[in-house]
Amino acid sequence: RCAPIAGAPARDHSGKLYLLTFRDMTEARRMDRMRSDFVANASHELRTPLASLTGFIETIKGPAKNDRDAQARFLDIMYEQATRMTRLVDDLMSLSRLEMKTHVAPTDRVDLNRLVAHVTDSMKPLAAEMGVTVALTVPDERVVIQGDRDELIQVLQNLIENACKYGQSGGRVDVAVDVLPTDEGYGSAELRVRDYGPGIAPEHVPRLTERFYRVDIESSRSKRGTGLGLAIVKHILTRHRTRLVVQSTLGEGTTFIVRFERQKTPNDVVLRLIDKE
Ligand code: ADP
Repeated sequence: RCAPIAGAPARDHSGKLYLLTFRDMTEARRMDRMRSDFVANASHELRTPLASLTGFIETIKGPAKNDRDAQARFLDIMYEQATRMTRLVDDLMSLSRLEMKTHVAPTDRVDLNRLVAHVTDSMKPLAAEMGVTVALTVPDERVVIQGDRDELIQVLQNLIENACKYGQSGGRVDVAVDVLPTDEGYGSAELRVRDYGPGIAPEHVPRLTERFYRVDIESSRSKRGTGLGLAIVKHILTRHRTRLVVQSTLGEGTTFIVRFERQKTPNDVVLRLIDKE
């Protein structure tokens, strides 16, 4: 379980000095296993559309060589499969970019209400196509947080898209920002995305942010999912020193919650100075 690498000095009977330390190999082995599982999963996910593409190309070159209608149908499917591979590669690249900067704190000052309003508006047409209405509630107060604007947009897009895809039957998604006051300082703010769909069974909840974990793989595939959306969300939130909280009740729906520390704004400073005069 343990491998010596360096550590507490010791002398043998001849008086030679040795230095021994121990590294816990369990964690290293676990990381190795995770890495190889990830490569196996990613390869498998890419192989499926690739095999389908190869199959259709062979058919178009062979049995369907002179069948224009069949060719047109197959090309549509091939386009869909190629798009799927592009989505997957894009998500894999996002994940690997995020992994490289997990320890670098983001520095943009983000007006959360404005960002959430902007993303919610931009998602409405997609939601409407699925028969879902998206409603937004933001507080009157300005909420400024320190973050990475593009990454926060990605978090919100993923959560709203999932709420529409998997909670489609509920017909409605509520997005909200709430201010949580505290005695000292600027308190925190909460971002919530709620759907009224079928909900998620408790045994799945802790695993949702694992790469390629899906509650129902066929449903995810048919909804153009890559299985990486929530893993990306988790990485982004880790970089923002926060995490994703999931509340779900079967038959009632699911709420994804993120809590952020609020930031002091330049306006607040001015207001304080005026207060003192
Ligand atoms: P995918 O690309 O499959 O959507 P995600 O990482 O975004 O992957 O989500 C992982 C899984 O979590 C989904 O496949 C789905 O089973 C489940 N899930 C995510 N959001 C919801 C939701 N709002 N309601 C029910 N299930 C959800």
